[in-house]
Amino acid sequence: MKTAFISDVHGNLEALTAVTQSLRDEGVSRVLFLGDIVGYGANPGECIEIVREIADTILAGNHDWAAVDKTDTSSFNAAAQAAVAWTKSVLTAADKAFLSQLSLNEETKDFFCVHATPLHPEAWGYIVNDRDASQSFAHFSESLCFVAHSHYPTVFILTDKNRINSERTAHLSIRAGCRYIINSGSVGQPRDGNPAASYGIYDTDKKEYRLLRVEYDIALAQKKILDAGLPPFLAHRLALGR
Ligand code: ZN
Repeated sequence: MKTAFISDVHGNLEALTAVTQSLRDEGVSRVLFLGDIVGYGANPGECIEIVREIADTILAGNHDWAAVDKTDTSSFNAAAQAAVAWTKSVLTAADKAFLSQLSLNEETKDFFCVHATPLHPEAWGYIVNDRDASQSFAHFSESLCFVAHSHYPTVFILTDKNRINSERTAHLSIRAGCRYIINSGSVGQPRDGNPAASYGIYDTDKKEYRLLRVEYDIALAQKKILDAGLPPFLAHRLALGR
């Protein structure tokens, strides 16, 4: 069975629409959404509607909870804070009620899923280096953990020799005896220098993971951000993938 892991849409309807088409083309049977439907982009309400339609499981991200005052935004930069205020002003009461009740993590038979980290999901820490990964491996029992939040597609592997390797691979065969923390990047605001939308597919039968990149109408997403009066930086960065 093909399971897709998508996250960090951030109100980018054009990127989400392109990824939704890709999910159909790939014949995905299950979609896990790892947080951050809203924040930064110009179509938060529309993105909530689509994610609710396509995803089997939806987890909370820090921007989802920032929009409903469930997380402290004092560490957010000025553009992110402006985006939170704008997002709050356009979401309906029903959208906010929906975001409020999302959970922080999910354990299935095959994997652990969380937006930030397995240990303290609500602290919104990042897994960006081997040390972060090493701490995180101690706080889930499955062999696979899917995370989001950094917008950087990365795979951390705890080998059978108890070493950690990190890779930026687009193809991975899951090996018995190894454990993995996998970040599939961001749909709506990639930051690894590649502006194409990013998401992952894990085939539970073949035990193979793939990272997919999907082109979308960046110019339209940028125009909507500028027209909404959101910080222009949020539009410009989309073309750079930064
Ligand atoms: Zn995000």
